[in-house]
Amino acid sequence: MAEQPVRPTHVEVDLGCLAQNLRAIQQHVGSARVMTILKANAYGHGLVPVANHMVQCGVDYLGVAFLEEGILLRRQGISAPILVLGGIAGEQIPLFLQHDLTLTAPSVEKLHLINETAAAMGRRARVHLKIDTGMERIGIHYYSAATLLEASLACEHVQVEGIYSHFANADAADLGHAKLQLERFHEVLTFYEKRSLPVPMRHMANSAGILQLPESHLDLVRPGILLYGVYPSADCQQTVPVRPALTWKSRVAYFKVVQPGHPVSYGSTWQSDHPVRVITVPVGYGDGYFRALSNKSEVIVRGVRYPVIGRVCMDQMMVNLDQGTAYNGDEVILLGSSEGQSISAAEVAEWAGTIPYEVLTNINTRVPRLYR
Ligand code: PLP
Repeated sequence: MAEQPVRPTHVEVDLGCLAQNLRAIQQHVGSARVMTILKANAYGHGLVPVANHMVQCGVDYLGVAFLEEGILLRRQGISAPILVLGGIAGEQIPLFLQHDLTLTAPSVEKLHLINETAAAMGRRARVHLKIDTGMERIGIHYYSAATLLEASLACEHVQVEGIYSHFANADAADLGHAKLQLERFHEVLTFYEKRSLPVPMRHMANSAGILQLPESHLDLVRPGILLYGVYPSADCQQTVPVRPALTWKSRVAYFKVVQPGHPVSYGSTWQSDHPVRVITVPVGYGDGYFRALSNKSEVIVRGVRYPVIGRVCMDQMMVNLDQGTAYNGDEVILLGSSEGQSISAAEVAEWAGTIPYEVLTNINTRVPRLYR
């Protein structure tokens, strides 16, 4: 365990658990390669330590959202292939090439710009073509994709290493749209078959695709949330066994008895009709513990779940022990398991009216991350 931080509120990341989750995914997808998705600070788990660990585990590819994330990883000495999934601004292209980052080419115009920049720099850009099969985010529409594929054949300074698309709702119970997207992607790929050209590395499956659509595994899969041990949605089949790698902890900072008629926290939104034991925990919305959890969520203290009462403040919040027991310095679990009790990202998401992705990525960088 790393040195104990000064601040009692911290996140613990179980790297062994991440490795096990990765192995479970690899086993499930068989011969398909794996690109672990590390965007948004590795879904709150810490970009650089998770990336280093994934490389140690022998992962095939790393995926990030932005150029800056890719550069940060290169500056930390990571030499594994890195695909930047997001759109790119023209002036960023030289930096992609300098740092040997793989670019996403979502249009003919961007592809030409990449080719010209690479030519001017005397380099060859490694590129994955992005096809929009039904997400309407970035990527050329599947029905015009042949123009991008055709254009790529003439770009001498571009190596088309991959071609990919992204599911809009492969985590749903009804997989109709996801299957249609996959069909459209296969239709685009016939471009290569018709011309007897080698097909670049094909990829489409996010966590939901990995879990629910084995036919979408293709040459490579792109797990994000599943790597971290969380299922994409309640509707999604749990066909790969994974465990959450992250625990969010704090400690009791203050203990008091609150009398009836004495409301708790800003806005005086909660009060008791009998004397209750209340603890103050030094974590708040400034750390990414949603204010929307005010009067809604629970935490674990000494193996018992207790409710958060009153408004969550920026740096502190209060918990009602009622007649329960806790002492200053006792551990408080905000997310994760302890003594047979467990609070999942899905549960916190439900309380806050959001998705588990946001619960994890919202944990602020001022919360220290410890690795074990
Ligand atoms: N691939 C792309 C292009 C993405 O944008 C994402 C994240 O949204 C992922 C893969 C990973 O998604 P998930 O976390 O659902 O596995």
